Amino acid sequence: MTADATDPAEGPNASTDDRPAARDVVVVGGGVAGLSAAVYTARQGLDTLVVDPGGSVLRRNARLENFPGFPLGVDARRLLDLLGEQAETAGADRLDARVTRVSLAHEGSDAADADAGDAEANARFAVTTDEGDRIRARHVVAATKNEVGYLEGLDGVAIVDRGKAYVDADERGRTGVDGLYAAGRIARKTHQAAVCAGHGAEVAVTLLEEAETPFYHDWVAPEGYFTDRDRDVPPGCEEIAAAEREARESAALDATRDRFAEPHPDPQETHPSLED
Ligand SMILES: Cc1cc2nc3c(=O)[nH]c(=O)nc-3n(C[C@H](O)[C@H](O)[C@H](O)COP(=O)(O)OP(=O)(O)OC[C@H]3O[C@@H](n4cnc5c(N)ncnc54)[C@H](O)[C@@H]3O)c2cc1C
Repeated sequence: MTADATDPAEGPNASTDDRPAARDVVVVGGGVAGLSAAVYTARQGLDTLVVDPGGSVLRRNARLENFPGFPLGVDARRLLDLLGEQAETAGADRLDARVTRVSLAHEGSDAADADAGDAEANARFAVTTDEGDRIRARHVVAATKNEVGYLEGLDGVAIVDRGKAYVDADERGRTGVDGLYAAGRIARKTHQAAVCAGHGAEVAVTLLEEAETPFYHDWVAPEGYFTDRDRDVPPGCEEIAAAEREARESAALDATRDRFAEPHPDPQETHPSLED
């Protein structure tokens, strides 16, 4: 995702008044869990915004050797870039900012800012950032590892303290607040990148199943897979012909050669307490 695609007011739900549009999904945190969630929601056409200041703990990894699909390992910063690119390709936007508060749009001090536009847009949440943005959202995915301060004061959210802070959520990331989900480490998933990425995907699928958008699976199937059996292509699925498959493969090979042509330019990061 590029910094150019950061206007929270952009997107298919742009409002007709002068206030920013309501997003279908705001993902708070663009590490492996949040970006994986954004890939899934954006691919289904949900207007998705990822808000992140760029601090995934995975940036400190020296060599990621247990992420599925990379038999000789992968540079973790490269993986984060690729996940961000995948979310952008799927249609997600990114805002380079830190979320300071998530509140119910119609309650507490945010009620003063809420109006008929929020109700019409079915915007349950107001997401506030340290840059002064107030973004309305129908769903929020919290994916900020152990940072939970922006959720304090939101009725229905239980914060669990186990030395580090987590959000109490069920296996599929549902919290005590309708429309608010927790993904990855913040939902007490194990401290492994693949587990947190997988949980981000699972949480997004849960959100999709519970949203108004019809959804079956996010699958790309060969032409005729459903239709030759007199079945409609289910919502969320796609059938592609051989020529289209070859075109996509060719584009993917070119992109992969390009992205892996050189070592990643970013320096190795370490624990902040070790930095001078
Ligand atoms: C040194 C080190 C090496 C590791 N090596 C491995 C390994 O080899 N294999 C492995 O499987 N795992 C490894 N891990 C663990 C792995 O990095 C984590 O388990 C994984 O990144 C957790 O994913 P996450 O998305 O939950 O959190 P993160 O990837 O940390 O993402 C959280 C995101 O939330 C953002 N954020 C925080 N607060 C806010 C806010 N208020 N507003 C907006 N955004 C916010 C941050 O900027 C960050 O991008 C390693 C971790 C460390 C520290």
